[in-house]
Amino acid sequence: MILISACLIGVNCNYNGQNNALPSLDKIPKNIVPICPEQLGGLPTPRPPAEIILGDGKDVLEGNAKVITIKGDDVTENFIFGAEQVLKIAQVCKAKEAILKANSPSCGKGLIYDGSFKGKLKKGDGVTTALLEQNGIKVLTEKDLFPHQCF
Ligand code: SF4
Repeated sequence: MILISACLIGVNCNYNGQNNALPSLDKIPKNIVPICPEQLGGLPTPRPPAEIILGDGKDVLEGNAKVITIKGDDVTENFIFGAEQVLKIAQVCKAKEAILKANSPSCGKGLIYDGSFKGKLKKGDGVTTALLEQNGIKVLTEKDLFPHQCF
């Protein structure tokens, strides 16, 4: 089984109540399990956007960085709890791979929004990505599946 960010297959779980549906589901395997760590972490939809301040997902898991909404609320615990629920699902499903949404503070891999809420990126992984990779689950993003597509 392969985990996939639910927003990538058209589920309206984004912070703004929308989705990030891929241009085509042809490249998506059939054995997918859709997950949304922010919803699993107890956050509502829609919800204020949140970004990781002064660090990345690994730092958040180690207690050295926080996830803060654009309104200034601390949602770090929600992000960690959601990541833990995703890991639980992965382990029950014996998933060894995940296709997650690029740049997200939960799902991003390699690059995430930098905490300024200005659409700028910094190096690092989202909280769920960091936890999955620490547990041996390989994370790709939609950019790996559609390298020539602009998202
Ligand atoms: S990027 Fe991840 S956390 Fe954000 S809406 Fe998509 S699945 Fe949920």
